[in-house]
Amino acid sequence: MIDLDGTMYHGTKIIESAHDFMKEAQRRNIDILFLTNNASRTQKQAAEHMMKMGYENIRPEQFYTSAMAAADEVKRISEKRRAYMIGELGLKEALLNQGFELVDCDADFVFVGLDRNATYRDYSLAFRQLHQGAVLVGTNSDTVLLSEEGVNVGNGSIVHMLETCSGQTSMQIGKPSSVILECALRYTGWSKEEVLIIGDNLHTDILCGVQSQVKSALVLTGISKREDIEKTGIQPDVVVESMIDLFKIL
Ligand SMILES: [Mg+2]
Repeated sequence: MIDLDGTMYHGTKIIESAHDFMKEAQRRNIDILFLTNNASRTQKQAAEHMMKMGYENIRPEQFYTSAMAAADEVKRISEKRRAYMIGELGLKEALLNQGFELVDCDADFVFVGLDRNATYRDYSLAFRQLHQGAVLVGTNSDTVLLSEEGVNVGNGSIVHMLETCSGQTSMQIGKPSSVILECALRYTGWSKEEVLIIGDNLHTDILCGVQSQVKSALVLTGISKREDIEKTGIQPDVVVESMIDLFKIL
């Protein structure tokens, strides 16, 4: 199970060592699932995004997002299906696929994924649902989002805002929560013992592995540096400079 940004690409730019890794993994028929906290893209959009930058033979069903995990998990634990949502197409599709009804009033749940066009009115409407008893479900808790221009407000910060006004604590879905990993295991039918979780972020990807008792590999092409392991005390099973180095151990 492989992270995307910082692991397979930087924004829209392919990471060549990850490209080499994918070609070799495909040659060896290794099953791959891209496990991402990004709730905005649909599976099809996520596949197209990677093909556009140069990856070959990537299938939509190889992506499992925090939006899908939010919809799957709430469907699993509740019979209620009235959802108010802040989010983009990825979250909308995930909710509709699981039979949720998207509503503007009397919602049972408020789903919050990154929405770059959301307004004050949308946030207030979300708050109103929460105030009347709806349950807050943030897809992921990443407070900062990096882009080519610099830092941006991450979905986790919006979720925090809604937690502050409503007095609720959001359900935890995305990495490092083990919820997304358990959901991804149900989605694939794989068992924990046969999975390696790979990513560039100790606080999300690797901590998710540690908390879920799944082996993890830190790749040093993104956010976390080798010295951060000691600083944070979050210990991956394997550390590699780049993705292709994984074949020295796989
Ligand atoms: Mg990453």
